[in-house]
Amino acid sequence: ISFINVEKAFGAHRVIHGLDLGIGKGEFVSLLGPSGSGKTTLLMMLAGFESVTSGEIHVGGARVDQTPPHQRNMGVVFQNYALFPHRTVAENLGFPLRMRGVARAEIRARVARALEMVELSAMAERRPHQLSGGQQQRVALARALVYEPSVILMDEPLGALDKQLREKMQLDIRALHARLGLTIILVTHDQSEALTMSDRIAVFNAGRIAQIGSPAEIYDRPATQFVAEFIGETN
Ligand code: ATP
Repeated sequence: ISFINVEKAFGAHRVIHGLDLGIGKGEFVSLLGPSGSGKTTLLMMLAGFESVTSGEIHVGGARVDQTPPHQRNMGVVFQNYALFPHRTVAENLGFPLRMRGVARAEIRARVARALEMVELSAMAERRPHQLSGGQQQRVALARALVYEPSVILMDEPLGALDKQLREKMQLDIRALHARLGLTIILVTHDQSEALTMSDRIAVFNAGRIAQIGSPAEIYDRPATQFVAEFIGETN
């Protein structure tokens, strides 16, 4: 995945400035930074839900910044993962595939595989309110996996969970990443989450990447005062 000189403005308000970023296949990269620094906007441009104002985005060697979202083969997981309350877990996963005209047998197979990946096969016939917060979060993750994407984009996916559950989910997602060889891009403002989960961290400040490196590099050798202060904060 490459962002080449990507800019984004909402009207006169420029929120991403000439950004270059390369992410390798199978890498786990966190976009870390304070609220309003442009992390979500960058993820939305990659998913295709926001246009780029200028610059290019390439995935697997092909330019995608003009491609409609559903042709980009990316799974997206948000913090506010609205599940359909009146549908079972299996129906929640199958519904978007049905809308895309995927055949019934294929839907059943993919839903079963996705549930297996998040260890929720036993919960297929339950409705969302019959699941714990962590299980619901796993359904949201499975709903991204059901497309069998090679890239998963996550925006604060664990923000609504309590600390203990958040830490367990961090390990689960990390394990899934290793097992499936997925490329994962995670937006977070939680330094400890980025430090424990990522291969590399891009620290954002006001629409620019202040530093990019491994957790150890970012933690041990912050490149700017901003990075030092942001990483040093506790939350
Ligand atoms: P947070 O952690 O709070 O989500 P963020 O780093 O993800 O913050 P963005 O959501 O990307 O930041 O927002 C970057 C800037 O772009 C902010 O100033 C925000 O107000 C602005 N912005 C985002 N979306 C829009 C929009 N649709 N229209 C106008 N301005 C927007």
